[in-house]
Amino acid sequence: MGKYLIFLIIFTAFVTSDAFCLTYKKEELKYKDHLKDKMLYVLVTLDGSYRTDKWEEIIKLSEENINATVYVSAVYFLNEEEKYRYICPFNAKISGISNVGFGSTKELTDERIGLVKKAQKQGVSIQSHLNGHFEGSSKWSNQMWDLEFKQYFLFTQFLEQKSQHIRFPYLEYNYDVYDVFEKYGIRSIVSTITRPYVDGIYTKISVMDDEKVRYFFYEFPISFVKYNKCKTIMMDYNFFVKDKKEQLSERQIMRNVEKLYLKQAKHCFKNNMPLFISHHFFMDGNEAYWKSLKNVTVKLKKIYKNKIKFITIDELYDILSTSDSIMSEEKS
Ligand SMILES: [Zn+2]
Repeated sequence: MGKYLIFLIIFTAFVTSDAFCLTYKKEELKYKDHLKDKMLYVLVTLDGSYRTDKWEEIIKLSEENINATVYVSAVYFLNEEEKYRYICPFNAKISGISNVGFGSTKELTDERIGLVKKAQKQGVSIQSHLNGHFEGSSKWSNQMWDLEFKQYFLFTQFLEQKSQHIRFPYLEYNYDVYDVFEKYGIRSIVSTITRPYVDGIYTKISVMDDEKVRYFFYEFPISFVKYNKCKTIMMDYNFFVKDKKEQLSERQIMRNVEKLYLKQAKHCFKNNMPLFISHHFFMDGNEAYWKSLKNVTVKLKKIYKNKIKFITIDELYDILSTSDSIMSEEKS
């Protein structure tokens, strides 16, 4: 285990409208100080959650010891008749609207809920992608965030374990969401936007009460990589936008994606950092990315044999936070 803090920034954010002021401590940490040597940690993460055939495939993957982390949009657990239960977070006078639709018929919605429950029982991690997938959340107030989180937990009450991790729609958020995290027990975000990307680094954000830390969470950046000669974040949607423009065939896409993931896996293994494979349930009818994801898991297992662990975001959080507290104790 190497050196601990790289650097520390203290910054403040005004959180609620009654001018209550919270202080945050932001520490940039190195994965390699906290993750085991000679082990590749892979996180298969998805968002979307509408398609039931994909839930069945996720359950199948979990039977092969690959437990994905699925960031679910909770509107898919409301059927067409229930959609008015969802109050628009940025205009509480409106209800029943969403950027991604709702769960469809009662039968399909019930089937989906049954599959999510089964997946969670088998070890799939069910986390939050909030509700209506609205753009512009970077401009939301503390009250809007609160309403959105409150409703997410209301619509996912059927889950045996509450979600504790989040990937925001469009990866968009602002500092007003921080004290809402504390209220709802959110432990990590996957993001890209708070600072320029530095390879091998993640951020720990602590909410401070005077000098005391009363709560903390992690922010995991999505890697920046070179895909087909372009720099982009490592997410299937970003590949899709580029591939569509170039009208690549399924075979070409799969070759590019798989090549990139294997190269990135090598980089992560060498540098003790987790490999985040970030996908969506549905990519405009294009199955190439889903197929690549499945192929890559098989190839990685073959290459890394007993030196690979497929973990969920909860497991990553546990590893890092345990190691973190041991290191803090050693320090003091
Ligand atoms: Zn999304």
